[in-house]
Amino acid sequence: MREGTAHAIVVVGSNIEKERNLPEAIRMLRRASHVTVERVSRFYESPSIGGPEDAPDFFNAAVYLCTELQPVELRETLRSIEAELGRERSDDPNAPRRIDLDIVYYGDVELDVDDWVLPDPMAVTAAHVAVPIAEVAPDWIHPSDGRTASEIAEQIETGEVHPVMAIQLSTPYSPRAPEDFDDVVDVYAPRLESLVRQQLVEIGEDPEREGLVRTPLRVAKAMDFLTSGYTTSLEEVVNNAVFDAEGAEEMVLVKDVEFYSMCEHHMLPFFGKATVAYLPKGKIVGLSKIARIVDVFARRLQVQERLTNQVADALTDILDPHGVAVVMEGRHLCMMMRGVQKQESAMITSAMRGTFKEDSRTRNEFLDLAR
Ligand code: ZN
Repeated sequence: MREGTAHAIVVVGSNIEKERNLPEAIRMLRRASHVTVERVSRFYESPSIGGPEDAPDFFNAAVYLCTELQPVELRETLRSIEAELGRERSDDPNAPRRIDLDIVYYGDVELDVDDWVLPDPMAVTAAHVAVPIAEVAPDWIHPSDGRTASEIAEQIETGEVHPVMAIQLSTPYSPRAPEDFDDVVDVYAPRLESLVRQQLVEIGEDPEREGLVRTPLRVAKAMDFLTSGYTTSLEEVVNNAVFDAEGAEEMVLVKDVEFYSMCEHHMLPFFGKATVAYLPKGKIVGLSKIARIVDVFARRLQVQERLTNQVADALTDILDPHGVAVVMEGRHLCMMMRGVQKQESAMITSAMRGTFKEDSRTRNEFLDLAR
């Protein structure tokens, strides 16, 4: 954890248009300044408690985050997300709500001022809060109660809280897995959409014609996915998949990792394959995580040289290995479509760290294997 930061747990809930509002609130939280989302629980469904008989069921999820914001500032951020999603605060605590974002824990802060209590008392009384929290932070210790989140969740009356199957959601869970950009039912990112609509006008198109009516929505959704690297933290991606491997000293190499990125000069795609290797110093990482780390940096506006270096630096940070080597081969649509260079030309970039940089034999061994 960086200096001046704290970990906090926020629980998000909705029972109006919840399939849209819950993912959207989490998307906005990922985009918020000074907030780094490290883990998001599955969505849990539970009946409305204490409200009208026919009140729709709730969806809830817990978000484990790291923040530079003080509790009051974090609460302000959550309030502004609620406002943007059309929440009207009512005095009735059981009224149906579009969206609710509450800080349940903020570090080990204990607070009781002006109707605001931290940790939120629901941490120990409400299963729809305790159960998702135990999923994202099982070892979190309640500062006054002394129990861990998983002990609290085990000992609470869980009632009818159960995880939601992905298939029940009409919108994707997170910006990481859109099966189909058309599969969006409602407003997604209104400001981005209106910019895309304006762009259509500027290029001489009619945004109202049939084929284009939903285009701004789809573009906003696609853009959100293609730039999701900005809002995905390495902690979330690696998710404890670093293992001690005493004595492991042999080169680990992953070949042909596909990547798709967008150049920062034209916002046009470039894509290709990466080969990534490291020489472990007692620590290894799950192989699938290497592809995910490449994605985190590819899903931004990039230049290929920086992308290559960022992947190398990230692995160096995570594993502290003897060395890291990354080679990327990419084809850039901004060159290919504008005919500046030959259609077949590919760009090759490399980044060498540690032993790969210092020792030409190791480097050559890598380059042979990468070929
Ligand atoms: Zn370009």
